[in-house]
Amino acid sequence: MQEIVTRFPPSPTGNLHVGGARTALFNWLLARSQGGRFILRLEDTDVQRSTQEMTDSIIEAMHWLGMEWDEGPYFQSQRFSIYREYINYLLNTDRAYYCQCSEKEVEAMRNEAWKKGENPKYNGRCRDLGLDFAPGRVVRFKTPKQGETMFRDLLKGVNSVENSQLDDFVISRADGSPTYNFAVVVDDATMGVTHILRGDDHLSNTPKQVLLYTALGFELPNFGHVPMIMGPDKKKLSKRHGALSVLEYRDAGYLPEALVNYLVRLGWSYGDQEIFSREELVNAFSIERLSKSACVFDPEKLDWVNSRHIKESPSQNLAPRLQAFLQEAGYSDVDLDYLEDIVPLLQPRAATLREMADLAEFFVLPDDRIEYPRDLLDKYFDQEVVTHLNSLLQSFQNLEDFSQQTLEDTVRKYLEVQGIKFKKLAQPIRIAVTGKTASPGIFETLAVLGKQRVLNRLHNLLATVSLAE
Ligand code: GLU
Repeated sequence: MQEIVTRFPPSPTGNLHVGGARTALFNWLLARSQGGRFILRLEDTDVQRSTQEMTDSIIEAMHWLGMEWDEGPYFQSQRFSIYREYINYLLNTDRAYYCQCSEKEVEAMRNEAWKKGENPKYNGRCRDLGLDFAPGRVVRFKTPKQGETMFRDLLKGVNSVENSQLDDFVISRADGSPTYNFAVVVDDATMGVTHILRGDDHLSNTPKQVLLYTALGFELPNFGHVPMIMGPDKKKLSKRHGALSVLEYRDAGYLPEALVNYLVRLGWSYGDQEIFSREELVNAFSIERLSKSACVFDPEKLDWVNSRHIKESPSQNLAPRLQAFLQEAGYSDVDLDYLEDIVPLLQPRAATLREMADLAEFFVLPDDRIEYPRDLLDKYFDQEVVTHLNSLLQSFQNLEDFSQQTLEDTVRKYLEVQGIKFKKLAQPIRIAVTGKTASPGIFETLAVLGKQRVLNRLHNLLATVSLAE
């Protein structure tokens, strides 16, 4: 069986956005699921708009998403001599020609065609002039005037267009650089690409590419054009719908495995299953299950998928990531073992790592920086509560085992002896150790904070209350 070879060829004129990442994922999954190869290629022929910064950022995003490539990254800017060879071949075999028309003249021809109700087209003025090379001349492909160009799309079925609808399109620009349609064909063919999955915004380019494949004597690959991602208003997803760049999602605290899961499911399905590990995706992926209709980007669903992945990740896995977010918030060098104990308490409560870092703040704050808002002190700490907390502080001091169970037993016993309800002390204890009225379960929180922090914080609170009196 033929080896499957796929590719992702972003232009480094912008960041990797969610649409591009999804296309990349489909190609990556197809290669991985079939034991094939996945190629990364940067289409940087537009030297004005391509930047090193965007190249680096795309590569960083690919690594972050875990989409490792088997070949590349190739750079089209380093392959100009290869394109030149194929341009010359087309010129020498009378399938392409030099054109001297100025941009203005071509614009006028396009307008004229438009007025006649035709596709805006170049009118072929230089087609039979036999012009030679001269600086500033573009090279155009001699599109056959008759017949039709057909290909079978993996998702959309047979696609055909009358050649008379197309024009003699440019394959080499005035500065000698190849156009997208030309370079992509030479690259895909010479790199042995067998399957091209890409957005259906490229559908109108494909007949031109098919013509070039034929003219260059290359075998056609399989094309599959996937429907674009829409915003909730059913318009093409764009910046005004919110964050688009993959790295922005990273910085907002999404897990790469969750973004991968969400993006793949957006345009591919497998029964009712919503949550997939990377391995499950690789095993289950197939082109047949790609959706033929447009799908809507739903930030709430992404949050849900992310929270599910957060819940299901081992805490050793999340702790270093949480550490990075805390670091950014100014808490440097938080101990990883401590974070591994904190993570399970926050997993059910956080939709993103950023939320988790917010929730983790009281755990990592120095004891003397926990603040006790005045209104909470007034509301929860009367003389009776203070007396109970003092007694509890004594009993905690004597505990050798500071486990959740022992803490719970100790407090329950105290309540029993005193004949008071847990409700009376639950919030005061919580406020003492967290400065807040909401936190994970109080006994697990105390256990994870550990004896020293709990004693310090109870002590600090009691000192604050007595000062306030
Ligand atoms: N550089 C093109 C793009 O970013 C590649 C399209 C293709 O997959 O052929 O849209």
